Amino acid sequence: MQVHVEATELRKRAVCDCGWRGKRRWLRGVAVVDAHLHAAETSHLPLGARVDEVAEHQSFKGGSRRL
Ligand SMILES: [Zn+2]
Repeated sequence: MQVHVEATELRKRAVCDCGWRGKRRWLRGVAVVDAHLHAAETSHLPLGARVDEVAEHQSFKGGSRRL
C-alpha cells in the first residue's frame, strides 16, 4: 500500500491505496504530514513528498514547489 497526496487548486489530501483518505487540507505540507502519520500507523509506504496534481484549473502554478 502506498500513500500519496492528491492536490487540487484549493485542497490537498493524503490518500492511500488501502482506501484511507486524509482530511482535506489547505496546505500541502499538512497533507504530507497526514500521509506520513498514516504510513507510521499502518506501515504502508509513504511516497516521500509525491504530490499528484489534480488539475481543476491549469492556470494555477503557484503551488508547484516541491518539498
Ligand atoms: Zn494505507
